[in-house]
Amino acid sequence: MSDATPLVGIDLGGTAIKAGAVAADGSILAERAHPTELERGPEAVAARIAELARDLGATDRVGLGVPGLVDRRRGAVPHCPNLAPLEGFPLRAAVARELGIDEAGVHIENDANVAALGEHWLGGAREERDVVVVTLGTGVGGGLILGGELYVGPGGLAGEIGHLCIDPAGPPCGCGGRGCVEAFASATAAARRAREAGLDGDLEQLAHRARATDGPERALFRHVGLDLGRGLALALVLLDVRAFLIGGGFGAALDVLRDGIVDGLIERSWGRDAADVRVLPATLGHRAGWIGAARLAATS
Ligand SMILES: [Zn+2]
Repeated sequence: MSDATPLVGIDLGGTAIKAGAVAADGSILAERAHPTELERGPEAVAARIAELARDLGATDRVGLGVPGLVDRRRGAVPHCPNLAPLEGFPLRAAVARELGIDEAGVHIENDANVAALGEHWLGGAREERDVVVVTLGTGVGGGLILGGELYVGPGGLAGEIGHLCIDPAGPPCGCGGRGCVEAFASATAAARRAREAGLDGDLEQLAHRARATDGPERALFRHVGLDLGRGLALALVLLDVRAFLIGGGFGAALDVLRDGIVDGLIERSWGRDAADVRVLPATLGHRAGWIGAARLAATS
């Protein structure tokens, strides 16, 4: 691969496929988006991915982020609630066939992991050697950068911060467990907690009120942040990582979540002081996924 070949990354989501091309020096060359149109079936989704990749200049390789656990051997996504029609479908082989390239040129990774790669390459975690990247959305995703590299473990399960348990008696979680971080601190969980507290409005409106006045909205974000911080403290104790980057759509509320997050981290990590942990904002927004996928294509 010459330096002039663009690195192409694709972020496959339930409603949209986002894609882009990045030069080897990190400058963004082009960006595209297209509805996923899941109803047309998995072959059509693979064809659309290939079309976007070709359009962006992919020649022999492409990176692809998907919202589910990746089966590396089969190049498929065995469990993928947001893209149910794609479950078990041999996505890697289909994209390679549509693109007319070797299957080894199609690199698939979980969406939270590619977001971590993206933020580490060109975003808010650029300066970090060891960092936990959290994606707050309808769920809570996580990616680990350790020693400057993405760490996914032999089965790709590493970094699933959202399913660390902080209270075995807590609310049920989509994974079948109880009291996971996700069941307390995802956007979905925060909205549920707001309703339970009798608060009206969507999360954006609630965050706006939390910024303006020290009322029940501020307490809500503080508590949600506290539970997230308690989960992140488990990662701190296990890995001795001190930097945490918060992204995803709900990450836009980091300013009102932050105090709680720091308190949760301190409370459950043997009394470290706040100066010892850093909670950083994501800077790539919705581009983190495809930028990280492009990085994946470069480094795999
Ligand atoms: Zn869970």
